[in-house]
Amino acid sequence: MTEQLERPGAQEWVPEHPDSIDALRAAAPACRGCELWEPATQVVFSAGNSHADVALVGEQPGDAEDTRGIPFVGPAGQLLQRALEEAGLARDRVYVTNAVKHFRFTPRGNRRIHATPETSHVAACRPWLAEELRLVDPQVVVLLGATAAKALLGPSVRIGKDRGHPIERETSQGVRTFFVTTHPSAVLRTPEDARDAAYAALVEDLRTVVGLLT
Ligand code: SF4
Repeated sequence: MTEQLERPGAQEWVPEHPDSIDALRAAAPACRGCELWEPATQVVFSAGNSHADVALVGEQPGDAEDTRGIPFVGPAGQLLQRALEEAGLARDRVYVTNAVKHFRFTPRGNRRIHATPETSHVAACRPWLAEELRLVDPQVVVLLGATAAKALLGPSVRIGKDRGHPIERETSQGVRTFFVTTHPSAVLRTPEDARDAAYAALVEDLRTVVGLLT
């Protein structure tokens, strides 16, 4: 049913010619580019160094992020932080954001269960992400999971076949280097007997990213 909703997209709320991430962040709470703003607690924009070498793009904020208004502060964010440290990627070299800026969930009793954003939510929210990448202008854009990867590389991307190596793409801002890997929440969902290997593969991917930096 939600696929039938009209989603104007975020462009109308993105400031014209913003000169900083702070200017974007200040404008984002007013966004009504899709319906996800309404049940969410608040917009969750981004965190980290706005002139970083590496931009990490996830799917959407989770329950903890929605409550605190900061991306990657829940269990997946903690796992990501550990993986970044093991890979030798200092937090001050990264900018973290999401393809969708409001938490999409299904209420179940007192709980809010994560619901994957639809392609049209990602499209509606993309003007924010495009401006973020223009302003941060990172050396590498790391796409954490399928939603982020499809948001920026298109629907044919597959984590299994496309992860672990740099992908150069022409964009409206020139050629960019993208790098696909798994989302840390996918590591957390991996069955226990395979979780260590999934985590090690994420760390290995992040080490490869470090090796791409000049
Ligand atoms: S999810 Fe994105 S497009 Fe939708 S209201 Fe939030 S900021 Fe705007």
